[in-house]
Amino acid sequence: MSTADELPTSERRVCAECIGEDYLADLITRTGIASACHYCSRNGFTITIEELSKHVERAVEQHFERTSSEPEGYEYYLHRETGNWKLGTIWRASSAGHYRDTRSR
Ligand SMILES: [Zn+2]
Repeated sequence: MSTADELPTSERRVCAECIGEDYLADLITRTGIASACHYCSRNGFTITIEELSKHVERAVEQHFERTSSEPEGYEYYLHRETGNWKLGTIWRASSAGHYRDTRSR
């Protein structure tokens, strides 16, 4: 067990490689900091899951009309854009309990 495993999900860092999706990967490369990725352990540009959540939320709002607060739309978007269920899993972990917080302002 590394200490990284004990981090709250929102504070875990994810790299552009793990994201795979062009828009978000580019965003990570431009705004991220060089650090070890929690998911693949490689060193590269990373952002936290919390930051990722906000970026994804913004991206999804540009692509979808928001019909409800259900998070499935985000997972659908990520899977459709990336074909990557691992990312969906990351997103599902990050959205639990955080979704309403980020919308409340
Ligand atoms: Zn990674």
